[in-house]
Amino acid sequence: MQEIIKEVLKFRNDRGWAGNHDVKNLAISISLEANELLECFQWTTAEESIENDKQAIVEEMADVLIYLIQMADCMHVDLEKAVKDKLVKNAIKYPIPEKTTK
Ligand SMILES: [Mg+2]
Repeated sequence: MQEIIKEVLKFRNDRGWAGNHDVKNLAISISLEANELLECFQWTTAEESIENDKQAIVEEMADVLIYLIQMADCMHVDLEKAVKDKLVKNAIKYPIPEKTTK
């Protein structure tokens, strides 16, 4: 994860884009890219979309993550820690169901 984060931030910094990237615009960009991802599934079944348009789906998934990484950097958030912390919270909220024995 750290390697990908470094690459994304280097790409942004090499182009001098960091100054234009504020938290609000990055949040909007995440939502727009998520909608581009949804567009890949519009008017088809999930199976058809994946079969006919998998590359586009993968690219939109990457776009969402790229903007998310930039937003985390902008807010000085450790994204890896945030995910781990949220998984702990989710595990409490959604415990693994106990297996019933007969
Ligand atoms: Mg896109």
